[in-house]
Amino acid sequence: MRWAMAGMLLAGGAAGSAGAQTAPRVVADIPPVQSLAAMAMAGVGEVELIVPPGASPHGFTLRPSQAGALERADLVISIGPALAPWLDEAADALARPEAVRLDLLDLPGTHALPFREAAVFAGGHDHDDDHAAHDEDGHDDHDPADAAHAGEHEGEGHDDAGHDGHDHHGLDPHAWLNPDNALVWLDAIADALARIDPARAETYAANAAAGRARIEAAARTAEELLEPVHHRPYVVFHDAYRHFEERFDMPASAAVSLGDAASPGARRVAEVREAIETTRALCVFAEPQMPARLIDSVAGDEVRRGVLDPLGATLTPGPELYPALIEAMAKSLLECLGDRA
Ligand SMILES: [Zn+2]
Repeated sequence: MRWAMAGMLLAGGAAGSAGAQTAPRVVADIPPVQSLAAMAMAGVGEVELIVPPGASPHGFTLRPSQAGALERADLVISIGPALAPWLDEAADALARPEAVRLDLLDLPGTHALPFREAAVFAGGHDHDDDHAAHDEDGHDDHDPADAAHAGEHEGEGHDDAGHDGHDHHGLDPHAWLNPDNALVWLDAIADALARIDPARAETYAANAAAGRARIEAAARTAEELLEPVHHRPYVVFHDAYRHFEERFDMPASAAVSLGDAASPGARRVAEVREAIETTRALCVFAEPQMPARLIDSVAGDEVRRGVLDPLGATLTPGPELYPALIEAMAKSLLECLGDRA
């Protein structure tokens, strides 16, 4: 009914006002990206989410209804093939030629980080001049004889600890965990919407400005929350947090799984277990829906357990999810790493 009416109005030449025009059909890959798109689309229309809360973008099967959404879309927004190659292929096959595709990792101004192979991150920031000063003070407790760390000081640490031959597209895809990237992407999404739907250009620009303020406020809140726990050692479940680590100066010691969430081999598990001891990790962070036994396989009872939710699986999808996700990450880190009475 809605579509028929809009078509009649267009056919009758009554499409002069924005309200009479059909909203752009927008599809987004994961909840944080859907949230940014929903901010830009506020008051205009809904944004279809492909990977629902609780599902992993690292391996996912498209449902027929989602294939239909891709076929109808005017705008397809995704992190890019580094996160979800299956979605890139589906969009290539299904999206209309005139549909606009935004691969966020490719956008100018996006802060990119290389895919990290090592399990243990003693020198995790050694390619980033801004963070060079952090590398010394964060690792006072390391055993200098620890072989896992020996290569890091020569800048080789990322590359020699376990290539598995998979194509990771070279980039760490979890770039939404840096709110500076979210700001760049929100503007790009609003610009793309304005090109598709020029009648509402002012709405999209105003929505982006309002969203920017909320994201910046969430980043400031996260900075304040994390103030007491900078450089306290911790271990994460999968190597998803480097963008957050660098943005908020919270380097992790190790990750149980690679950034593509592939199951760790015995050698990697052993390296992580050792790193938990040598760095005196205070906390090991699981993720929602992950089996606790993976954490129990690397950490004893003396190490605290926390949960980090990089996709917002426990949050309500929509425009408020993104700022809530950044604040929730900081709260989770503070709760597990903070001093206890
Ligand atoms: Zn991931």
